[in-house]
Amino acid sequence: MAIIRDVMPAFELLQPNAIAEAQQLLERQGGDGWALAGGLDSFDWLKDRIKRPKVVDLSGIDELKGIRTTSSGIEIGAMTTLTEVVQHPVIRQNYGLLAQAAALVASPQIRNQGTIGGNVSQDTRCWYYRGGWPCYRAGGNICYADTPVGRNREHAIFQADRCVAVNPSDTAPALIALDAKFVIYSGKGERVVDAEDYFIGPDIDITRLHILKPGDLLTKIQIPATWSGVQFYFEKVRDRNVWDFPLLNVASAMMISDARIQQIRIAVNAAAARPLRLRTVESAVRGMPPNPATGEMAGKLAVRGAVPLQFNAYKVPLMRNLVKRAIGGVPEASWAS
Ligand SMILES: Cc1cc2nc3c(=O)[nH]c(=O)nc-3n(C[C@H](O)[C@H](O)[C@H](O)COP(=O)(O)OP(=O)(O)OC[C@H]3O[C@@H](n4cnc5c(N)ncnc54)[C@H](O)[C@@H]3O)c2cc1C
Ligand code: SF4
Repeated sequence: MAIIRDVMPAFELLQPNAIAEAQQLLERQGGDGWALAGGLDSFDWLKDRIKRPKVVDLSGIDELKGIRTTSSGIEIGAMTTLTEVVQHPVIRQNYGLLAQAAALVASPQIRNQGTIGGNVSQDTRCWYYRGGWPCYRAGGNICYADTPVGRNREHAIFQADRCVAVNPSDTAPALIALDAKFVIYSGKGERVVDAEDYFIGPDIDITRLHILKPGDLLTKIQIPATWSGVQFYFEKVRDRNVWDFPLLNVASAMMISDARIQQIRIAVNAAAARPLRLRTVESAVRGMPPNPATGEMAGKLAVRGAVPLQFNAYKVPLMRNLVKRAIGGVPEASWAS
């Protein structure tokens, strides 16, 4: 069980000022290494969860910060804060989907400190796991949330495999819809992965939500110009609108011409341990008009195969309606009423 402490216990802090140096330090620590970005997820683990990693602080590495326009789109350093992402004029104008998603993360203070790299690499919020219970994800052999009396209102309706926790990131589905690429630096050099391939479920590795291995560093996120300025939709549903993690969110990017959907990318998060790109929906709506009837059909298709737990069946109609609105639009009256 976690011990909630008033004072942060001592830990070893390493402070590199270059990407290569940080990577070498992380690699040298192996499984004990911990990259520290804004610290909003990290400090929670260090303070209360009795994790004692060797912490590699990324805040002194200028190469990891900032937003640059390139010949093929835009590049966001992993240590760029969410506030900078929200406020950047090119992101607001061309990739408004990401600005919208980042603006709905938590509170202004958290967005000022939290980074885009940390937001996509954060751990799940399952309270059993975060409370120090020895569940599957923590190396044990039980899932406390997936029992008839388990508290699983916020948990998964898709792709559970022993663990039913979800990925809580708001920016992740927006980056998938924008076809972003994640640049990872390791001892073997740089590799680039599609945003959707950055995230993994418990079937691949039950101990992490992303593909980073010890010694890997996420350095930047590239967004191609392909989806710049198309029709975007982002919606997040949460318990408290002041600030809270998503119960579900949806992000879509649609290219429309001749009143038909020509191209579309759509993803939801907080429905599974990884953000889900809805490829079946994308195929089904291509060539159709973006109207309520198409939205209705897409919503039904999106939730096919959902397996709700004891207390989260509400997520099935919720996801159906989010997808419906992302594609079919929102009638004025439904917001007004
Ligand atoms: C009260 C609260 C409410 C929140 N609400 C929301 C919400 O509504 N929506 C939402 O999306 N998020 C929410 N968050 C998450 C928050 O927005 C942060 O983005 C997130 O916690 C991590 O960002 P960070 O920069 O603080 O990273 P850290 O906490 O420092 O790091 C998070 C994880 O990512 C790893 N990591 C970070 N950067 C890198 C890198 N460059 N390379 C390799 N690994 C890296 C770290 O090792 C760590 O495991 C909330 C957080 C809190 C505390
Ligand atoms: S849902 Fe996953 S993280 Fe939560 S108790 Fe079950 S195994 Fe642990």
